[in-house]
Amino acid sequence: MRTLKRLLALLVALVVVTCLAGYFAVPGIADRLMNKRAIDPPYPRDEAAEALHKQLVVADLHNDVLLWGRDITQRASHGHVDLPRLRDGNFAIAVFSTVTQTPKGINYESNDSTTDQIGLLARVELWPLRTWNSRTQRALFQAQRFYDAAAKTRGELLLLTKRSAVDSLLARRVRGEQVVGALLSTEGLHALDGKLEHVDTLFAHGFRMLGLTHFFDNDIAASAHGLSKGGLTPLGRLVLHRMELLNMIVDVAHASPATVNDVLRMATRPVIVSHTGVQATCPGPRNLTDDQLKAIAATGGVVGIGYWDGAICTPTAESAAKAIRHAVNVAGIDYVALGSDWDGATTEPFDASGISLVTAALLKERFTAEEIAKIIGGNFVRVLKASLPPG
Ligand SMILES: [Zn+2]
Repeated sequence: MRTLKRLLALLVALVVVTCLAGYFAVPGIADRLMNKRAIDPPYPRDEAAEALHKQLVVADLHNDVLLWGRDITQRASHGHVDLPRLRDGNFAIAVFSTVTQTPKGINYESNDSTTDQIGLLARVELWPLRTWNSRTQRALFQAQRFYDAAAKTRGELLLLTKRSAVDSLLARRVRGEQVVGALLSTEGLHALDGKLEHVDTLFAHGFRMLGLTHFFDNDIAASAHGLSKGGLTPLGRLVLHRMELLNMIVDVAHASPATVNDVLRMATRPVIVSHTGVQATCPGPRNLTDDQLKAIAATGGVVGIGYWDGAICTPTAESAAKAIRHAVNVAGIDYVALGSDWDGATTEPFDASGISLVTAALLKERFTAEEIAKIIGGNFVRVLKASLPPG
């Protein structure tokens, strides 16, 4: 009897230790393994680029740092984004996305929706029970991580939910305050759990940009990496209409060509592609054709060019500048921006503290200071002022 009790106690202890080890180690390990850098900071600084970069309003259109549960108010030794590194990069604006379901064996060509790696993560990391089977709740949980961080900073992270917030952010920065404006987004509208009314739920929780698809076809639209290669569904059309009514920004990153076409036919407001490359410099289903570049520009939106291998094939600042050059030649100088995909399970050439490397590469690519100011952030500011809810 006593042996049995001891055995039981040992078993319970083992389970507790395993759970604790899982809780503390697994998320950190996945984060470290999946969000790598080709070169660690500090990054080389070019004097002329640095002088220009300090004057710019710098914006990034997509990161996934909220997925990993790091304290974004503190500088981490791994990954790509946190408040200290955004400050090092002189960032005025960053879009924090949320990720609610990813397939096992994720790839750019063909994925179905039957597997759920984020559901697994939610269980291993002991996220609140409500998130285990609800993708809406997973998006809200990650948004709460942002709110908790923002509360800790006492105003140094400012959520942008309306147009006037952009003006006050920029005014505060002109006064020398080191405040960073943030937008909440989600990557794939499976985050609605199939319910149109959850567009309003996300809006109520501060989300102002929604990506229609991620790696698989959902009940809103087909993904570039899904099975059907179809377009918007009837529910997707209602969602798009609701988003436009609420002044939410539509992001077609990861969308299938047919989805992009359907959205562009319906949209009456600027459409964006938050993180992408161009097929001309890096072919593949992930990246934009020249026709798509022109069509996005025609809505008054922007395309955010990234730095990871899937976007620009050779992940360097120089290669990003070449993709940007092509996008500008095709779409026009007013329609190109930066979309890093930092902390998006990507290997990146540099983290947020190294963004002036892109400014240096754009100078080498013979863009003028005025043009660089538009690409680095000015164009996205224009979209925000035209797209966020008035007031
Ligand atoms: Zn993505």
